[in-house]
Amino acid sequence: MAETRDLVIVGGGPAGSATAIALARLDPGLAARTVLLDRAAFPRDKTCAGGLIPHTLSILRELGLELTVPAVQVDQARVDVAGERIDIDSPGCCWVIRRREFDAMLLDAARGHGVEVRESVRVVGARRDGDHVVLETEAGPIRSRAVVGADGSGSLVRRALVNDAEGWIARAVMCDVPIASNGAPARFEFDFRAVLDGLSGYAWSFPCLIEGRPHWNVGVYSLARRGEGERLARLLDARAQAPDAPRKAHPIRLYRGRERISAPGVLLVGDAAGVDPLLGEGISFALQFGQIAARVLADGFATGDLRFRGYDRLVRRSPMGRKLRRLGFAARMMYGPAGPLFFRVARLSRRAQITGMNWYNGVAH
Ligand SMILES: Cc1cc2nc3c(=O)[nH]c(=O)nc-3n(C[C@H](O)[C@H](O)[C@H](O)COP(=O)(O)OP(=O)(O)OC[C@H]3O[C@@H](n4cnc5c(N)ncnc54)[C@H](O)[C@@H]3O)c2cc1C
Repeated sequence: MAETRDLVIVGGGPAGSATAIALARLDPGLAARTVLLDRAAFPRDKTCAGGLIPHTLSILRELGLELTVPAVQVDQARVDVAGERIDIDSPGCCWVIRRREFDAMLLDAARGHGVEVRESVRVVGARRDGDHVVLETEAGPIRSRAVVGADGSGSLVRRALVNDAEGWIARAVMCDVPIASNGAPARFEFDFRAVLDGLSGYAWSFPCLIEGRPHWNVGVYSLARRGEGERLARLLDARAQAPDAPRKAHPIRLYRGRERISAPGVLLVGDAAGVDPLLGEGISFALQFGQIAARVLADGFATGDLRFRGYDRLVRRSPMGRKLRRLGFAARMMYGPAGPLFFRVARLSRRAQITGMNWYNGVAH
């Protein structure tokens, strides 16, 4: 006989943990009847640069959390576009964490809020059974009234229960390069020069601490999932200058307002639903998806209607959904035929540069 649950969250990354924490704050009784599954044992690595925009810290505070893991504070942004280097002083414009530590912190908080967390349990299949969903896991089946797919870009929950179209997928490659000096620099760098050669993306360098030692996390992002492998490898080699540093690559699902992100009894959050197409930033969105999903779950269980009909629209019309759609537009502009014009205009106005950065960071000025 299958175990029966009210709610199962698949995935204990930022989106799954945020859903659990936000739900526990809204409806502790429902959270106590929820189980969160992750195939990994935490702390686990996640291929990610670990940059947190200031808005992420505000959302953490809304969830009742502080950043208690090591973080490098970034006070200056350097942006390279064709023909020009732009330096912007902006104290606290980013904090760089390691996902191994950050995600474990969030998962611990979910557990501390009364949600049962099961690690090392992989979901291998999902299907409908009347008005329930049955999840096949390595530890046996679980029958649930509702399921949250927080299982990342390759989401099985998405493919099995919501939408098996490939969708809009970007790719990023990265490596960590030790820095010889004592301290990590307080500057991050974005390099858009390769856009003129046809890259739909950019290269980055973020300062970070790995086991207390300063490193650059260096990477390249491309809107194109396929066909760019060689170019990304070449750009990463040139930027990192560290042939021995292990390379890691991972897809990032991008948000498109018109794609379905829910079905009766099922909600998608974080990368499973899609994040920022312009820069591939996803942690702040993962947390916000969790907040929205928690509200929809609490309402659904309170009324007994678990069809979640309003979720896609609620996401699309939320400040997060509007920002994601604007970022999608900006990505098409910057990485499309209008790119060179866009960069020329952006180069000219200091005020536009600062306003753009503050908008992106979720900082009102
Ligand atoms: C190279 C790179 C650099 C990036 N840099 C940044 C950055 O600097 N800042 C930023 O904000 N974002 C960045 N991102 C994006 C960010 O990593 C993601 O948006 C973020 O991890 C999304 O969180 P999530 O919880 O939705 O998914 P994930 O973090 O992917 O978590 C999904 C969880 O689900 C679990 N899972 C998956 N399948 C199953 C299954 N079948 N059964 C059980 N468990 C399962 C996984 O083990 C995992 O723990 C970067 C991405 C890449 C690839």
